Amino acid sequence: MTYDVVIIGAGMAGLVAAAKAASMGKRVLILSRGQGTLPLSSGCIDLWGYTLDKPRQVTLNPYNEIKKVILRNPMHPYAYVFDQINESIEFLQKVLSSCGYSLVGSIEKNQMVITALGTLRPSALVPKSMIIRNSERVERVILVGFNGYLDFYPHLLLDNLQRLSPQFFPQAKMEVKILQWGNNSTGEVLRTNFLANLFNQERFLDFFVQELKPYSLTSTLFILPPILGEQPNYQILDALTTQLNSQVIETPGLPPSLPGYRIEQGFLSFIKIHHGELRIQNQVIGFRYKNGKVTTLIARDSSGKVQEIYGKSFVLATGSFWGGGLHFENNCIFEPIFNLPVKNVNERQNLFLSSKGHPLLKSGVEVDVNLRPNPWMNLYVAGSILAHSDYTSEKNGMGVALATGYKAGGLAAENKT
Ligand SMILES: Cc1cc2nc3c(=O)[nH]c(=O)nc-3n(C[C@H](O)[C@H](O)[C@H](O)COP(=O)(O)OP(=O)(O)OC[C@H]3O[C@@H](n4cnc5c(N)ncnc54)[C@H](O)[C@@H]3O)c2cc1C
Repeated sequence: MTYDVVIIGAGMAGLVAAAKAASMGKRVLILSRGQGTLPLSSGCIDLWGYTLDKPRQVTLNPYNEIKKVILRNPMHPYAYVFDQINESIEFLQKVLSSCGYSLVGSIEKNQMVITALGTLRPSALVPKSMIIRNSERVERVILVGFNGYLDFYPHLLLDNLQRLSPQFFPQAKMEVKILQWGNNSTGEVLRTNFLANLFNQERFLDFFVQELKPYSLTSTLFILPPILGEQPNYQILDALTTQLNSQVIETPGLPPSLPGYRIEQGFLSFIKIHHGELRIQNQVIGFRYKNGKVTTLIARDSSGKVQEIYGKSFVLATGSFWGGGLHFENNCIFEPIFNLPVKNVNERQNLFLSSKGHPLLKSGVEVDVNLRPNPWMNLYVAGSILAHSDYTSEKNGMGVALATGYKAGGLAAENKT
């Protein structure tokens, strides 16, 4: 069988490309070695974090910075997709709303999200469960932890939040409340997924509400770790907000991150509904071509079996060094499947990441305005494998993956060449 579009990689860029091509009625297959970085992320889509001229200053308006960066660097991935960034955001919302989830925000405004460490991070598209309304009117902040849950440090959060409080919560008193679920006499360690699944039990929901009821007032804000369900919807958040008659938020947390996982699940269910296929634990190890076009991928599954997969067009979304899309060997950076032309920023003097990012991360595959690498006519490249962007300093990782994945998926589906 020949697929219309074959996508390599199941990170944000690959999932968006697959969803876009499938929504255009194409027969889509995703081949992926493993999960992408979505379940490691905050679940917020960063479009642009800091001002170009003052890199320590949060930008209020990502759109303005993106316009500036395109003028200064016409090879930045955003330059190739500028006219489709808004469309890609609308598409993301359409996909997520089909399962009852949504992200709040736009390209024109960054919002400040409280992290699990009690710092603030800017992001453009944020889960409803992380948005604080009228922080200046909050009178009481309760940081909720669990005995035996070691992936959330409410006392550290409290310390840092108290430093922020004059500007962010000018009126609020803050305290930590640690809940004890069951007798936990064995000192069992509780995991994020375990707690998230407990909320499916009415008994646990009742316990949770009864424990917090004494603090609940409309001026109270409860801050929780990211445990409000695994599925991409806000049912648990809405139930708690109503029953406690207070604001309830969750912070982004340590990996595995459920807010990132929810976005992944939202896309996977959309792709499935549109008859797309996913083959996980399938590593693409080679390809065949004819007349300047890729015709076949060679993939190895987890049992070691090697298969040939035929397609009309292809999207490469294998991520950067982290995802496995770029390799660094013998002092050289290369793309391992197609051996595509790579911008090689081989600067290793400083191996540490800082707020300035790292020059090495600007390495990546070079493409034309239609996201095609030389010389292939039916291969499109999307996401963090693209050259000229460093998401660690630019704070645009998911934004670049979303917009380039959207364009690549659409072009691969049209396959006009
Ligand atoms: C820890 C961490 C936290 C982050 N947090 C945020 C955040 O909060 N907000 C934000 O905007 N950005 C964040 N980023 C950046 C952002 O997550 C990434 O830039 C973006 O998700 C990259 O998506 P991608 O699809 O290009 O690549 P990836 O997510 O890396 O996906 C690559 C995919 O390709 C697959 N693959 C690789 N090689 C092969 C092969 N040969 N055959 C088949 N499959 C293959 C991998 O298994 C994987 O599924 C974070 C990054 C990291 C590392």
